[in-house]
Amino acid sequence: MQNSELKTPYFMIDESKLIHNLEIAKKLKEISGVKLVLALKCFSTWGVFDIIKPYLDGTTSSGPFEVQLGYETFGGETHAYSVGYSEDDVKAVVEQCDKMIFNSQNQLAAYRHLVEGKASLGLRLNPGVSYAGQDLANPARKFSRLGVQAGHIDPAVFDTIEGVMFHMNCENKDVDAFIGLLDDISANFGEYLDRLQWVSLGGGVFFTWPGYDVEKLGCALKLFSEKHGVQLYLEPGEAIITQTTDLVVTVVDIVENEMKTAIVDSATEAHRLDTLIYDEPASIAEADEQGRHEYVIGSCSCLAGDQFCVARFEKPLQQGQRLHIMDSAGYTMVKLNWFNGLRMPSVYCRRSTGDIELLNEFDYSDFKRSLSQWSVS
Ligand SMILES: *Cc1c(COP(=O)(O)O)cnc(C)c1O
Repeated sequence: MQNSELKTPYFMIDESKLIHNLEIAKKLKEISGVKLVLALKCFSTWGVFDIIKPYLDGTTSSGPFEVQLGYETFGGETHAYSVGYSEDDVKAVVEQCDKMIFNSQNQLAAYRHLVEGKASLGLRLNPGVSYAGQDLANPARKFSRLGVQAGHIDPAVFDTIEGVMFHMNCENKDVDAFIGLLDDISANFGEYLDRLQWVSLGGGVFFTWPGYDVEKLGCALKLFSEKHGVQLYLEPGEAIITQTTDLVVTVVDIVENEMKTAIVDSATEAHRLDTLIYDEPASIAEADEQGRHEYVIGSCSCLAGDQFCVARFEKPLQQGQRLHIMDSAGYTMVKLNWFNGLRMPSVYCRRSTGDIELLNEFDYSDFKRSLSQWSVS
């Protein structure tokens, strides 16, 4: 199958690029002894889990169905966390997870009897410090509901749980900033951690970013785990899947209103939602900063401000031309929706051999089914 025969829009996950990231993860594990569990909320395309499994230790989750998915399709360790469990969630999830991490001491007290003897109990703590570019994604933001604040901890709780989870980073590319947070946690929570078996430091550590000092991170993690006598975990999402996947689209029209807009057969609101939520423009593989021809890369949704980016090109864009919207794996395929009844992108994997394999495709029946299954009688 040739790329040009594939119908757009589609995602193309590149196995070689994925393995590049996974090799860095492997090196980090070797240096530090840390265990790595994939954060499924970032990326859950289980069709490629056979590529990832040999490198990571398992999965972590943000909701009940992610636990089941990790258990069924990934295996290894299955960590279960949720900001708010119902009793039914706990009963379902406890059969499939190794670790159950509660977000509050309330939930821990209410449900611990359902977990004891079945999974290792953990509690999320909020260290009150963080590294995040945007307030929306900052776990230590004012009035944060994520984890127990230091001042609210009942120290007796540490005699009845085995681990804690901190998650306080978002795309942190600065190893020294992370080590600063680690020192902070050690100073403020160290005497509690000494009583535990495991500590998860959450996700958001961007150790696959070009130039990231993996050695330095690994050594700091090793020191921390030795100091407190705990097995450390990280919960990477974006770091595993970054720069591996293009969303491939076709230019279907070009309109002009002071600026030229190339309209493509996809939309950020439906297919690349974080472009919109975080106001972070996408990058186009074919673009050229020095190019003389500037276009808004516009979505085919009806939302007035829905665009992928503004980009320059060496030559004028043509109707029918394909564009590759880069770095479109993390927090995209997990957020696809049917807004406007647009065609849903297919998902492919380009294997290291060059072969292209289809992982998913959608049609009208999927759209219809997502809206109602039965009509009123
Ligand atoms: C979002 C999240 C992660 C993954 O974050 P990345 O930035 O994708 O690495 C890990 N753990 C928790 C608790 C999270 O909420």
